[in-house]
Amino acid sequence: MDTGLKGFLRNITLASAWVSSIKSVAADAFVLSFERTHPFHPGQVVAVTTDRNIPPRLYSVCSGADEGEISILFNIKPDGLLTPKLARLLPGDQLFVSAPFGAFLGDNKPAWWIAAGTGIAPYRAMMRSGLGAQNWLIHGSRRLANFYFDDEMVSFFGDRYVRCCSQEKADGVVHGRLTAWLAGQTRFPPVQYYLCGSAEMVVEVRDILIRGGVNLNSIMSEIYF
Ligand SMILES: Cc1cc2nc3c(=O)[nH]c(=O)nc-3n(C[C@H](O)[C@H](O)[C@H](O)COP(=O)(O)OP(=O)(O)OC[C@H]3O[C@@H](n4cnc5c(N)ncnc54)[C@H](O)[C@@H]3O)c2cc1C
Repeated sequence: MDTGLKGFLRNITLASAWVSSIKSVAADAFVLSFERTHPFHPGQVVAVTTDRNIPPRLYSVCSGADEGEISILFNIKPDGLLTPKLARLLPGDQLFVSAPFGAFLGDNKPAWWIAAGTGIAPYRAMMRSGLGAQNWLIHGSRRLANFYFDDEMVSFFGDRYVRCCSQEKADGVVHGRLTAWLAGQTRFPPVQYYLCGSAEMVVEVRDILIRGGVNLNSIMSEIYF
């Protein structure tokens, strides 16, 4: 019997959708859009596949709740089963998608939004749904090209947008890992902390926050695996 996430995804209800656009946003990353047929809460995910024989994978919605399309941001795992196929899609191609679901939900409370890589996606959905006006956005990436949506983020968050790049340098970008920047903070304000990205990043950041006096109840995590 299938158990856990794999079993859940094998049994999830999928409906047909058609690609309305697919845009390259970095050498190995794309934003894929299709018509929105359900309401959703910013922060939720959809299950997506190109073929009913391939178990769907989960992707955070990165578009706003009032937009007519659902967009997802994904990067290609060269040895992955689904993402190389997603990257070859063209407008008009068929997809199979679930209704949005998930409990990593944005709200109006002040928060620090912390992301690694494509983990920026749910915060873009929150931002484009009218949330985050007082929030900080902290994004870590190895390469400058992978600060997805940075133009939008600079104009929305201004000085509250912190980019940490571990392998390249640029003006206005902290050189080093996101975790090093966080560990160097002298104070963590009493806000909500949202963490989104790899398990490694989420565990490391959670430890830093707890050591810095943040209550575990104020930390919400979405792990991409
Ligand atoms: C809640 C959630 C939200 C997510 N949101 C996003 C998002 O917004 N954007 C995004 O890009 N990704 C997101 N992901 C990750 C996404 O669901 C996929 O896992 C990812 O896109 C890889 O899919 P794939 O089919 O190309 O790779 P897969 O075929 O799933 O393989 C992934 C990696 O695991 C390795 N692998 C596969 N099988 C095995 C095995 N048996 N043993 C060892 N290694 C193995 C592969 O070599 C590859 O490197 C999310 C995941 C979760 C759980």
